[in-house]
Amino acid sequence: MIKDPYGRPVTGLRISITRRCNLNCIYCHREGEESSHIPTEMSPEEISKIVEIATTLGISKIKLTGGEPLIRADIVEIVRKISEIGSIQDLSITTNGVLLEKYADRLYNAGLMRVNVSLDTLDPEKYKRITGHAFLENVKRGIKKAREVGLYPIKVNMVILRGINEDEVWKMVEFCNRMEAILQLIELVPLGTPDFGKYYVDLDKIEQELAMRAEKVIPRKLHHRMKYYLYDGAEVEVVRPFHNSIFCANCTRIRLTSDGKLKPCLMRNDNLVDILTPLRRGASDEELKNLFLKAISLREPFYKG
Ligand code: SAM
Repeated sequence: MIKDPYGRPVTGLRISITRRCNLNCIYCHREGEESSHIPTEMSPEEISKIVEIATTLGISKIKLTGGEPLIRADIVEIVRKISEIGSIQDLSITTNGVLLEKYADRLYNAGLMRVNVSLDTLDPEKYKRITGHAFLENVKRGIKKAREVGLYPIKVNMVILRGINEDEVWKMVEFCNRMEAILQLIELVPLGTPDFGKYYVDLDKIEQELAMRAEKVIPRKLHHRMKYYLYDGAEVEVVRPFHNSIFCANCTRIRLTSDGKLKPCLMRNDNLVDILTPLRRGASDEELKNLFLKAISLREPFYKG
């Protein structure tokens, strides 16, 4: 297993496959990609080649993100090509769920293992306020379909926003429990949103309430995220990156931007390593592997203890 200079094993690769999106969320960090200019996107072959190189370094957890990954017409092919590599232990997509009903079965058959669906509210008006669109019912149908076809576990990502959805946590816990989904409560990070101060919520109070209703609490390996197992069977994870040195100390993932640059940290863009240009110029596997090693050597916790 490969480790960075801070002793953190690198086991996951989070790949943005497009900057394009069919929603326009008020707080979106766009996976830390600064420019809204839409670059050439990586082809399915290029993505799977980069994943193949990653696997030679022991990276076996692949997450596809964006933009909105399901907006790509070749999303099923991308998933199939990655799953064919073989040594992938976890292949998942983070999606806003708008197109999930349409694609869930094809993605599952192509080798997708699970999905995270971003859904911040169950209120149609609030949904429109947050995303700019009226697709709430599509997302709910997408979650149901994903469960039916066997994508497991389904996680629902809810970013907590002050004055908008902080009062909906328990409604969402119930909804997810009914859907047999794990709820992930996500703390807003100050990236891409000019209104961070307006929307940021400290999750302490919510965590205290969860702790009171929990049968057990277990930290996950990734980011030391706390997972609460509630008495009624509901499962809730809390993702708190902001000013959290424990979160950073337990970060085990490296990123790939939609224009093919290895990105050591969500929060930084001054240490990217271009892998797509060398790949397009015909670089050898050894050279590509060295670019990964370089990016891993540049990894540094953003928040330090
Ligand atoms: N479009 C896909 C989706 O909605 O899941 C993938 C991209 S989206 C950027 C990935 C995840 O990042 C979503 O769960 C979203 O809620 C979360 N996210 C976006 N901006 C954020 C921010 N400023 N703070 C915390 N999480 C954020």
